[in-house]
Amino acid sequence: MHELSITQSILYIALEEAKTARASKITRIDVTLGDLSGFSDECIKFSFGFLSKDTIASEATLSFHRQPAKLRCRQCDGVFEPDSQEWECPSCHGVQLEIVSGRESRVSSIEVD
Ligand SMILES: [Zn+2]
Repeated sequence: MHELSITQSILYIALEEAKTARASKITRIDVTLGDLSGFSDECIKFSFGFLSKDTIASEATLSFHRQPAKLRCRQCDGVFEPDSQEWECPSCHGVQLEIVSGRESRVSSIEVD
């Protein structure tokens, strides 16, 4: 379950932010998850449930924002969002592609009390 380490870092970032803001409670954490990150929000929620116990984030709501995958074709330089597992440029059918976005996973914002 590789969600455990990402959840740990989400929690760590949120707690650090809250400390800086001198907050006593974290009510909400917004997480941006790229479609290519391979993380399941359900697994993150599950891990968060027990990792956040006894912290000021124990009652925080996790809110996920999916970021779609974006690829760039090396042949025609077109950027597109792949809609299946078969990656092919829709304009020139090139298969030499690079990932522009969709791999990131990060805390985008937190709400505190
Ligand atoms: Zn192309």
